[in-house]
Amino acid sequence: MSDSIERVKCLIIGSGPAGYTAAIYAARANMYPVLYQGTQPGGQLTTTNDVENFPGYPDGITGPEMMIELQKQAERFGTDVRDGWISKVDFLGDVHKVWVQDDKEIHCETVIISTGATAMYLGLPSEQKYLQLGGGVSACAVCDGFFYRNQEVVIVGAGDSACEEAHYLSKLCKKVTMLVRRDEFRASQIMQARVKNTPNIEILYNTNTDEVLGDGQVVTGVRVKNNITDEVHEIPATGFFVAIGHKPNTDIFKGFLDLDPTGYIINVPGTSKTNIDGVFVSGDAADHVYRQAITAAGTGCMAALDAERYLASIDSTFEVNTATNY
Ligand code: NDP
Repeated sequence: MSDSIERVKCLIIGSGPAGYTAAIYAARANMYPVLYQGTQPGGQLTTTNDVENFPGYPDGITGPEMMIELQKQAERFGTDVRDGWISKVDFLGDVHKVWVQDDKEIHCETVIISTGATAMYLGLPSEQKYLQLGGGVSACAVCDGFFYRNQEVVIVGAGDSACEEAHYLSKLCKKVTMLVRRDEFRASQIMQARVKNTPNIEILYNTNTDEVLGDGQVVTGVRVKNNITDEVHEIPATGFFVAIGHKPNTDIFKGFLDLDPTGYIINVPGTSKTNIDGVFVSGDAADHVYRQAITAAGTGCMAALDAERYLASIDSTFEVNTATNY
Protein backbone atom coordinates (compact mmCIF):
# COMPACT_ATOMS: atom_id res chain seq x y z
CA MET A 1 0.00 0.00 0.00
CA SER A 2 1.17 3.48 -0.82
CA ASP A 3 1.60 5.72 2.30
CA SER A 4 0.70 9.01 0.80
CA ILE A 5 -3.00 9.70 0.43
CA GLU A 6 -4.07 12.14 -2.22
CA ARG A 7 -6.92 14.57 -1.61
CA VAL A 8 -9.03 15.27 -4.66
CA LYS A 9 -11.85 17.76 -4.98
CA CYS A 10 -13.56 15.98 -7.88
CA LEU A 11 -12.71 12.45 -8.94
CA ILE A 12 -14.22 11.13 -12.16
CA ILE A 13 -14.25 7.38 -12.75
CA GLY A 14 -14.48 6.42 -16.41
CA SER A 15 -13.50 7.86 -19.78
CA GLY A 16 -16.53 7.58 -22.06
CA PRO A 17 -18.60 10.56 -23.23
CA ALA A 18 -20.13 10.88 -19.74
CA GLY A 19 -16.78 11.03 -17.92
CA TYR A 20 -15.12 13.44 -20.34
CA THR A 21 -18.14 15.75 -20.45
CA ALA A 22 -18.23 15.81 -16.65
CA ALA A 23 -14.50 16.61 -16.75
CA ILE A 24 -14.92 19.51 -19.20
CA TYR A 25 -17.58 21.11 -17.00
CA ALA A 26 -15.77 20.37 -13.72
CA ALA A 27 -12.44 21.72 -15.00
CA ARG A 28 -14.05 24.91 -16.27
CA ALA A 29 -15.64 25.34 -12.82
CA ASN A 30 -12.23 25.15 -11.08
CA MET A 31 -12.97 21.79 -9.50
CA TYR A 32 -9.53 20.44 -10.52
CA PRO A 33 -10.92 17.10 -11.72
CA VAL A 34 -8.83 13.98 -11.76
CA LEU A 35 -10.15 11.38 -14.21
CA TYR A 36 -9.19 7.71 -14.14
CA GLN A 37 -9.66 6.16 -17.56
CA GLY A 38 -10.43 2.62 -16.45
CA THR A 39 -9.62 -0.64 -18.17
CA GLN A 40 -11.06 0.44 -21.53
CA PRO A 41 -9.92 4.04 -22.13
CA GLY A 42 -12.54 5.79 -24.24
CA GLY A 43 -15.24 3.31 -23.25
CA GLN A 44 -17.74 1.56 -25.49
CA LEU A 45 -17.35 4.04 -28.35
CA THR A 46 -13.86 2.73 -29.01
CA THR A 47 -15.53 -0.43 -30.33
CA THR A 48 -17.73 1.57 -32.72
CA ASN A 49 -16.76 2.54 -36.22
CA ASP A 50 -18.58 5.59 -37.49
CA VAL A 51 -20.60 7.82 -35.20
CA GLU A 52 -23.08 9.75 -37.33
CA ASN A 53 -25.70 10.70 -34.75
CA PHE A 54 -23.68 12.89 -32.37
CA PRO A 55 -24.65 16.52 -33.05
CA GLY A 56 -21.86 18.70 -34.40
CA TYR A 57 -20.20 16.18 -36.72
CA PRO A 58 -22.01 16.63 -40.05
CA ASP A 59 -19.62 14.23 -41.81
CA GLY A 60 -19.55 11.73 -38.92
CA ILE A 61 -16.51 10.73 -36.91
CA THR A 62 -15.12 7.39 -35.80
CA GLY A 63 -15.73 6.38 -32.20
CA PRO A 64 -12.00 6.27 -31.28
CA GLU A 65 -11.36 9.70 -32.89
CA MET A 66 -14.26 11.20 -31.04
CA MET A 67 -12.93 9.93 -27.73
CA ILE A 68 -9.47 11.41 -28.45
CA GLU A 69 -11.13 14.77 -29.18
CA LEU A 70 -13.13 14.60 -25.94
CA GLN A 71 -9.99 13.76 -23.96
CA LYS A 72 -8.12 16.70 -25.52
CA GLN A 73 -11.02 19.02 -24.73
CA ALA A 74 -11.09 17.87 -21.10
CA GLU A 75 -7.29 18.28 -20.80
CA ARG A 76 -7.38 21.73 -22.40
CA PHE A 77 -9.17 23.04 -19.30
CA GLY A 78 -6.84 21.25 -16.89
CA THR A 79 -8.36 17.83 -16.26
CA ASP A 80 -5.73 15.46 -14.90
CA VAL A 81 -6.40 12.37 -17.05
CA ARG A 82 -4.69 9.28 -15.65
CA ASP A 83 -4.17 5.66 -16.66
CA GLY A 84 -5.47 3.09 -14.21
CA TRP A 85 -8.70 1.89 -12.73
CA ILE A 86 -10.48 2.17 -9.42
CA SER A 87 -10.61 -1.24 -7.79
CA LYS A 88 -12.29 -0.44 -4.48
CA VAL A 89 -14.34 2.32 -2.84
CA ASP A 90 -15.59 3.16 0.62
CA PHE A 91 -18.41 5.69 0.72
CA LEU A 92 -19.52 4.97 4.29
CA GLY A 93 -17.52 7.63 6.13
CA ASP A 94 -17.39 11.44 5.92
CA VAL A 95 -14.71 11.29 3.24
CA HIS A 96 -15.26 9.33 0.06
CA LYS A 97 -12.36 6.92 -0.30
CA VAL A 98 -11.24 5.19 -3.46
CA TRP A 99 -8.29 2.96 -4.26
CA VAL A 100 -6.45 2.86 -7.56
CA GLN A 101 -5.62 -0.75 -8.41
CA ASP A 102 -5.78 -1.72 -4.70
CA ASP A 103 -2.76 0.46 -3.99
CA LYS A 104 -2.95 4.22 -4.14
CA GLU A 105 -5.62 5.66 -1.81
CA ILE A 106 -7.47 8.84 -2.71
CA HIS A 107 -9.85 10.87 -0.54
CA CYS A 108 -12.41 12.76 -2.55
CA GLU A 109 -14.84 15.54 -1.80
CA THR A 110 -16.94 14.55 -4.79
CA VAL A 111 -16.98 11.46 -6.98
CA ILE A 112 -18.59 11.27 -10.41
CA ILE A 113 -19.17 7.70 -11.54
CA SER A 114 -19.09 7.26 -15.31
CA THR A 115 -18.10 3.63 -15.52
CA GLY A 116 -20.62 2.73 -18.23
CA ALA A 117 -21.94 -0.67 -19.13
CA THR A 118 -20.60 -3.50 -21.19
CA ALA A 119 -22.62 -5.01 -24.01
CA MET A 120 -22.73 -8.78 -23.80
CA TYR A 121 -21.69 -10.82 -26.81
CA LEU A 122 -22.02 -14.50 -27.63
CA GLY A 123 -18.25 -14.98 -27.51
CA LEU A 124 -17.88 -16.82 -30.82
CA PRO A 125 -14.44 -16.18 -32.38
CA SER A 126 -16.08 -15.24 -35.70
CA GLU A 127 -18.36 -12.74 -33.94
CA GLN A 128 -15.38 -11.15 -32.17
CA LYS A 129 -13.35 -11.09 -35.39
CA TYR A 130 -15.93 -9.06 -37.34
CA LEU A 131 -16.63 -6.91 -34.29
CA GLN A 132 -12.94 -5.95 -34.06
CA LEU A 133 -12.76 -5.36 -37.82
CA GLY A 134 -15.83 -3.13 -37.73
CA GLY A 135 -17.13 -5.46 -40.41
CA GLY A 136 -20.79 -5.88 -39.53
CA VAL A 137 -21.19 -6.99 -35.89
CA SER A 138 -22.87 -4.51 -33.58
CA ALA A 139 -24.55 -4.35 -30.18
CA CYS A 140 -26.43 -1.13 -30.94
CA ALA A 141 -29.11 -0.95 -33.63
CA VAL A 142 -29.77 2.74 -33.04
CA CYS A 143 -26.05 3.49 -33.55
CA ASP A 144 -25.39 1.27 -36.54
CA GLY A 145 -28.73 0.31 -38.14
CA PHE A 146 -28.50 3.15 -40.66
CA PHE A 147 -25.47 1.49 -42.30
CA TYR A 148 -27.66 -1.48 -43.26
CA ARG A 149 -30.47 0.34 -45.05
CA ASN A 150 -32.29 -1.93 -47.53
CA GLN A 151 -30.09 -4.85 -46.53
CA GLU A 152 -30.77 -8.12 -44.71
CA VAL A 153 -29.65 -8.45 -41.09
CA VAL A 154 -29.81 -10.96 -38.26
CA ILE A 155 -30.40 -10.10 -34.61
CA VAL A 156 -29.93 -12.44 -31.66
CA GLY A 157 -31.83 -12.07 -28.39
CA ALA A 158 -35.38 -12.35 -27.08
CA GLY A 159 -35.68 -9.67 -24.42
CA ASP A 160 -37.21 -6.20 -24.61
CA SER A 161 -34.00 -4.77 -26.08
CA ALA A 162 -33.88 -7.33 -28.86
CA CYS A 163 -37.53 -6.66 -29.73
CA GLU A 164 -37.04 -2.91 -29.65
CA GLU A 165 -33.91 -3.13 -31.79
CA ALA A 166 -35.45 -5.63 -34.24
CA HIS A 167 -38.41 -3.31 -34.69
CA TYR A 168 -36.09 -0.33 -35.18
CA LEU A 169 -34.08 -2.28 -37.79
CA SER A 170 -37.25 -3.42 -39.59
CA LYS A 171 -37.94 0.19 -40.55
CA LEU A 172 -34.53 0.50 -42.23
CA CYS A 173 -33.70 -2.96 -43.49
CA LYS A 174 -35.22 -5.17 -46.14
CA LYS A 175 -35.43 -8.14 -43.80
CA VAL A 176 -34.62 -8.84 -40.14
CA THR A 177 -34.18 -12.41 -38.93
CA MET A 178 -34.48 -12.78 -35.18
CA LEU A 179 -32.80 -15.71 -33.43
CA VAL A 180 -34.54 -16.81 -30.22
CA ARG A 181 -32.78 -19.58 -28.35
CA ARG A 182 -35.85 -20.94 -26.55
CA ASP A 183 -39.37 -21.59 -27.80
CA GLU A 184 -40.54 -18.32 -26.30
CA PHE A 185 -39.51 -14.73 -25.75
CA ARG A 186 -38.40 -13.17 -22.50
CA ALA A 187 -39.74 -9.78 -23.65
CA SER A 188 -42.98 -8.23 -22.42
CA GLN A 189 -46.13 -9.16 -24.37
CA ILE A 190 -46.43 -5.76 -25.97
CA MET A 191 -42.87 -5.85 -27.32
CA GLN A 192 -43.33 -9.41 -28.57
CA ALA A 193 -46.53 -8.40 -30.34
CA ARG A 194 -44.69 -5.58 -32.06
CA VAL A 195 -42.12 -7.89 -33.66
CA LYS A 196 -44.60 -10.67 -34.38
CA ASN A 197 -46.81 -8.21 -36.26
CA THR A 198 -44.03 -6.74 -38.38
CA PRO A 199 -44.05 -8.41 -41.81
CA ASN A 200 -40.31 -8.10 -42.55
CA ILE A 201 -39.23 -9.66 -39.23
CA GLU A 202 -38.84 -13.44 -39.34
CA ILE A 203 -38.52 -15.14 -35.94
CA LEU A 204 -36.62 -18.43 -35.66
CA TYR A 205 -37.28 -20.14 -32.32
CA ASN A 206 -35.03 -22.76 -30.69
CA THR A 207 -32.22 -21.38 -32.78
CA ASN A 208 -28.59 -20.81 -31.80
CA THR A 209 -25.86 -18.97 -33.67
CA ASP A 210 -23.31 -21.46 -34.93
CA GLU A 211 -21.00 -19.07 -36.77
CA VAL A 212 -20.90 -15.55 -38.12
CA LEU A 213 -19.87 -15.93 -41.77
CA GLY A 214 -17.82 -13.44 -43.75
CA ASP A 215 -15.31 -12.85 -46.51
CA GLY A 216 -12.49 -11.99 -44.10
CA GLN A 217 -13.45 -8.30 -44.03
CA VAL A 218 -17.23 -8.06 -43.68
CA VAL A 219 -20.13 -10.22 -42.60
CA THR A 220 -21.91 -12.10 -45.39
CA GLY A 221 -24.22 -14.34 -43.40
CA VAL A 222 -24.92 -16.34 -40.26
CA ARG A 223 -24.94 -20.10 -39.84
CA VAL A 224 -27.60 -21.17 -37.36
CA LYS A 225 -28.59 -24.42 -35.73
CA ASN A 226 -31.99 -25.53 -34.52
CA ASN A 227 -31.31 -26.85 -31.00
CA ILE A 228 -34.22 -29.36 -31.17
CA THR A 229 -33.66 -30.88 -34.62
CA ASP A 230 -29.92 -30.09 -34.99
CA GLU A 231 -30.72 -28.80 -38.47
CA VAL A 232 -28.15 -26.27 -39.68
CA HIS A 233 -28.69 -23.60 -42.30
CA GLU A 234 -27.19 -20.33 -43.48
CA ILE A 235 -28.94 -16.98 -43.56
CA PRO A 236 -27.53 -14.32 -45.91
CA ALA A 237 -26.95 -11.07 -43.99
CA THR A 238 -24.62 -8.08 -44.02
CA GLY A 239 -25.18 -7.19 -40.38
CA PHE A 240 -25.23 -9.26 -37.19
CA PHE A 241 -26.77 -7.50 -34.20
CA VAL A 242 -26.34 -8.85 -30.69
CA ALA A 243 -29.01 -7.82 -28.16
CA ILE A 244 -28.56 -10.26 -25.31
CA GLY A 245 -28.18 -7.70 -22.54
CA HIS A 246 -25.74 -5.27 -20.99
CA LYS A 247 -23.83 -5.46 -17.74
CA PRO A 248 -23.37 -2.17 -15.92
CA ASN A 249 -19.80 -1.75 -14.65
CA THR A 250 -20.82 -1.18 -11.07
CA ASP A 251 -19.55 -4.20 -9.12
CA ILE A 252 -17.23 -2.11 -6.93
CA PHE A 253 -20.14 0.05 -5.72
CA LYS A 254 -22.20 -2.86 -4.33
CA GLY A 255 -22.81 -2.30 -0.64
CA PHE A 256 -22.14 1.45 -0.93
CA LEU A 257 -24.71 2.69 -3.42
CA ASP A 258 -28.31 1.76 -4.15
CA LEU A 259 -28.36 -0.46 -7.24
CA ASP A 260 -31.35 -1.93 -9.03
CA PRO A 261 -31.64 -5.74 -9.29
CA THR A 262 -29.61 -5.77 -12.53
CA GLY A 263 -26.83 -3.61 -11.07
CA TYR A 264 -27.64 -0.17 -12.50
CA ILE A 265 -27.01 2.67 -10.05
CA ILE A 266 -30.24 4.29 -8.89
CA ASN A 267 -30.15 8.07 -9.22
CA VAL A 268 -32.54 10.58 -7.70
CA PRO A 269 -34.94 11.17 -10.64
CA GLY A 270 -34.09 14.22 -12.72
CA THR A 271 -30.64 14.54 -11.13
CA SER A 272 -27.29 12.72 -11.09
CA LYS A 273 -27.42 12.28 -7.31
CA THR A 274 -26.99 8.84 -5.75
CA ASN A 275 -28.05 7.86 -2.23
CA ILE A 276 -24.67 9.13 -0.94
CA ASP A 277 -24.11 12.88 -0.67
CA GLY A 278 -21.22 13.95 -2.88
CA VAL A 279 -21.36 10.88 -5.10
CA PHE A 280 -22.94 11.36 -8.51
CA VAL A 281 -23.58 9.09 -11.48
CA SER A 282 -23.66 9.75 -15.20
CA GLY A 283 -23.93 7.72 -18.38
CA ASP A 284 -24.81 4.08 -18.90
CA ALA A 285 -23.94 3.02 -15.33
CA ALA A 286 -27.40 4.37 -14.47
CA ASP A 287 -29.13 4.15 -17.84
CA HIS A 288 -30.53 0.93 -19.28
CA VAL A 289 -33.01 2.78 -21.44
CA TYR A 290 -31.30 5.27 -23.79
CA ARG A 291 -27.61 4.17 -23.81
CA GLN A 292 -26.48 6.79 -26.33
CA ALA A 293 -23.27 8.83 -26.44
CA ILE A 294 -25.27 12.04 -26.44
CA THR A 295 -27.41 11.07 -23.44
CA ALA A 296 -24.27 9.95 -21.58
CA ALA A 297 -22.65 13.31 -22.35
CA GLY A 298 -25.79 15.11 -21.13
CA THR A 299 -25.80 13.31 -17.82
CA GLY A 300 -22.04 13.93 -17.48
CA CYS A 301 -22.80 17.64 -17.65
CA MET A 302 -25.56 17.20 -15.03
CA ALA A 303 -23.17 15.34 -12.71
CA ALA A 304 -20.55 18.10 -12.86
CA LEU A 305 -23.16 20.79 -12.19
CA ASP A 306 -24.63 18.78 -9.30
CA ALA A 307 -21.12 18.23 -7.89
CA GLU A 308 -20.32 21.94 -8.17
CA ARG A 309 -23.51 22.85 -6.28
CA TYR A 310 -22.70 20.24 -3.65
CA LEU A 311 -19.19 21.67 -3.15
CA ALA A 312 -20.68 25.15 -2.75
CA SER A 313 -23.16 23.84 -0.18
CA ILE A 314 -20.50 22.18 2.01
CA ASP A 315 -18.03 25.04 1.83
CA SER A 316 -15.35 22.93 0.16
CA THR A 317 -12.06 22.62 2.02
CA PHE A 318 -9.96 20.80 -0.61
CA GLU A 319 -8.45 23.76 -2.42
CA VAL A 320 -6.45 21.84 -5.00
CA ASN A 321 -5.50 18.21 -5.37
CA THR A 322 -2.75 17.49 -2.87
CA ALA A 323 -0.91 14.45 -1.63
CA THR A 324 -0.71 14.23 2.11
CA ASN A 325 0.55 11.85 4.78
CA TYR A 326 -2.08 11.39 7.46
P1 NDP B 1 -32.66 -9.31 -20.92
O1 NDP B 1 -31.74 -9.88 -19.93
O2 NDP B 1 -34.05 -9.00 -20.53
O3 NDP B 1 -32.77 -10.32 -22.16
C1 NDP B 1 -31.65 -10.91 -22.72
C2 NDP B 1 -32.12 -11.86 -23.82
O4 NDP B 1 -30.97 -12.37 -24.47
C3 NDP B 1 -32.92 -13.03 -23.27
O5 NDP B 1 -34.01 -13.29 -24.11
C4 NDP B 1 -31.92 -14.19 -23.34
O6 NDP B 1 -32.49 -15.42 -23.66
C5 NDP B 1 -31.07 -13.77 -24.53
N1 NDP B 1 -29.74 -14.35 -24.44
C6 NDP B 1 -28.84 -14.23 -23.42
N2 NDP B 1 -27.72 -14.90 -23.71
C7 NDP B 1 -27.93 -15.45 -24.93
C8 NDP B 1 -27.13 -16.26 -25.76
N3 NDP B 1 -25.90 -16.63 -25.39
N4 NDP B 1 -27.64 -16.67 -26.94
C9 NDP B 1 -28.88 -16.29 -27.33
N5 NDP B 1 -29.69 -15.50 -26.59
C10 NDP B 1 -29.20 -15.10 -25.39
O7 NDP B 1 -31.89 -8.02 -21.54
P2 NDP B 1 -32.47 -6.75 -22.29
O8 NDP B 1 -31.30 -5.95 -22.68
O9 NDP B 1 -33.42 -7.15 -23.35
O10 NDP B 1 -33.28 -5.97 -21.17
C11 NDP B 1 -32.66 -5.53 -19.96
C12 NDP B 1 -33.70 -4.84 -19.09
O11 NDP B 1 -34.10 -3.60 -19.70
C13 NDP B 1 -34.96 -5.66 -18.93
O12 NDP B 1 -35.47 -5.46 -17.64
C14 NDP B 1 -35.91 -5.07 -19.95
O13 NDP B 1 -37.27 -5.25 -19.62
C15 NDP B 1 -35.49 -3.60 -19.91
N6 NDP B 1 -35.81 -2.94 -21.19
C16 NDP B 1 -37.01 -2.35 -21.35
C17 NDP B 1 -37.35 -1.74 -22.54
C18 NDP B 1 -38.67 -1.12 -22.68
O14 NDP B 1 -39.48 -1.28 -21.80
N7 NDP B 1 -38.90 -0.40 -23.75
C19 NDP B 1 -36.41 -1.70 -23.68
C20 NDP B 1 -35.18 -2.38 -23.42
C21 NDP B 1 -34.91 -2.98 -22.22
P3 NDP B 1 -33.40 -16.23 -22.59
O15 NDP B 1 -34.70 -15.52 -22.56
O16 NDP B 1 -33.48 -17.59 -23.21
O17 NDP B 1 -32.65 -16.21 -21.30
